[in-house]
Amino acid sequence: MDLSKKTLWVFDVDNTMILDVEHPTPFEDAMKLWQALLEKGATLAILTNVGRLSSRQVHQAVKKAGFDLPLENVYTAGAAAAAFVHNRSPGARCFVIGEGGAQEDFIARGLDVTSNPPIDYVAIGADRGMTFHELNFATKMVKNGAPLICISGSRDYPGIYLGQEDMFIGERSIVAAIEHATGCKAITVGKPLPEIVEETVKILGFKVSDSVMVGDNPRSDIAGGNAAGMTTILVHRDDNIIDFESGDLDTTPSLKVQSLEEVIELL
Ligand SMILES: [Mg+2]
Repeated sequence: MDLSKKTLWVFDVDNTMILDVEHPTPFEDAMKLWQALLEKGATLAILTNVGRLSSRQVHQAVKKAGFDLPLENVYTAGAAAAAFVHNRSPGARCFVIGEGGAQEDFIARGLDVTSNPPIDYVAIGADRGMTFHELNFATKMVKNGAPLICISGSRDYPGIYLGQEDMFIGERSIVAAIEHATGCKAITVGKPLPEIVEETVKILGFKVSDSVMVGDNPRSDIAGGNAAGMTTILVHRDDNIIDFESGDLDTTPSLKVQSLEEVIELL
């Protein structure tokens, strides 16, 4: 496979570049590929399904781990959800559940993040400090007609919160409660939604045919990259593969590697 003509490389973060945003230890193979791509003059970007942290926070985490790129090239699930809402209703009033990151990305997009009616959109990200009142208010607003957005789609995920290592209930599970209570179905925004992948590539000024998606997860990174028409590279990692719903999207990568160092000779 010849990857020398590919000009935009979009990386997943958790379990691809670093262990995860709460344990930002870099993977050596990812670092070597990143450096090789920089030397070749490729444009590097990030599309992560993390919605707990803002684009700015993810940017800081990967930069500290040694991956250099401009802040404008970092897209979180929160930023993707904000773009999704903005494209349909600029300046919309949004009730956002999340740990602060998604709220920052929504505000950065010019959306009105508020806890008071009227509410145009309800957006739910993973939130380990969420209260019953917030969940109940979100449910009421959806019942009143606000579209429900799930910021990314993990059922659960490993992390560390208030000093405690654990598995935590993800946004998809919180949204399931609201769906159950209202009978409304959420729109899941994040990988593998092709619209998000296409939008990321377009905003950066590239074509999907010139772009590569690199990730560890067939059901998010690969399914989303394939559906958008990108070349997809799956790197094998031992564990920490988060469960996502990929529907009937194609999860077969263009290339599967045991180490991202194998990709360097194809550049
Ligand atoms: Mg990952």
